[in-house]
Amino acid sequence: MPLYTLPDLAYDYSALEPAISGRIMELHHSKHHQAYVTGANTALEQLAEARATGNLGNVNKLEKDLAFNLGGHVNHSIFWTNLAPGADGGPEGDLATTIDEEFGSLEAFKAHFTAVALGVQGSGWSVLAWDALGSRPIIVQLYDQQGNLPAGVVPLLMLDVWEHAYYLDYQNVRADYVAAFWTIVDWSDVAARLVRARAAGTLLLPA
Ligand code: MN
Repeated sequence: MPLYTLPDLAYDYSALEPAISGRIMELHHSKHHQAYVTGANTALEQLAEARATGNLGNVNKLEKDLAFNLGGHVNHSIFWTNLAPGADGGPEGDLATTIDEEFGSLEAFKAHFTAVALGVQGSGWSVLAWDALGSRPIIVQLYDQQGNLPAGVVPLLMLDVWEHAYYLDYQNVRADYVAAFWTIVDWSDVAARLVRARAAGTLLLPA
C-alpha cells in the first residue's frame, strides 16, 4: 500500500512574497506539512498493526491521529495549489456565476469567507467547499485539521489560519494576512476544482 508523500510546490518558497514570506513557506511546507504526512503514515501503520494483532484497545486514539494528520495533509495539499505568485483578477465563467448566485456577489463572498477566517478560535481554516448533496457551494469553518466539516463536501478554496501560517510575518494581525491572501489566490485552480466537484456530484446519492 503506497504511503503518503509530501508534494512538491509548483513555485519557489519565496515566490509568494510579500504576501507570505519565503521563511514561512519553507517551514510550513517542509516541517509542518511533512509532519502531517509522517503522522498519517504512522497512524495507518499502527492501525494495520492493531488489526493484525487483534489489539484494538488503542483504536480511538489512532483514529483521531489519522483524521488529524490526514486532514492536515489534504488541507495543505489543496492550499498550496490554491495559491500562485502574481495571481490577480478574480473568478470567471462558471465559478464567478456560482459565487454570485449563492453568495450574492464576489464582495459578499469574500466578506463572509474573511469573517470565517478571522473568527476561527484557536487553530483552523476558512473553506469554500462544494456540497455534493445539495449541489451548491458553502463556506465552512474548519476546526484544527478535521473538525466541523460535513461529510461529502469537496474543498475548493482553503485558507490556513493556524498561527504557524502567518505569525512570523503578521504577528497577531491576522486580518492583514487574510487581506494579503486575496492577492495570491489562483482562481483558475479554484475553477478547475469546481468543474471536478460538479462531475462527482452524484456520488453521495443516486441522481
Ligand atoms: Mn498549516
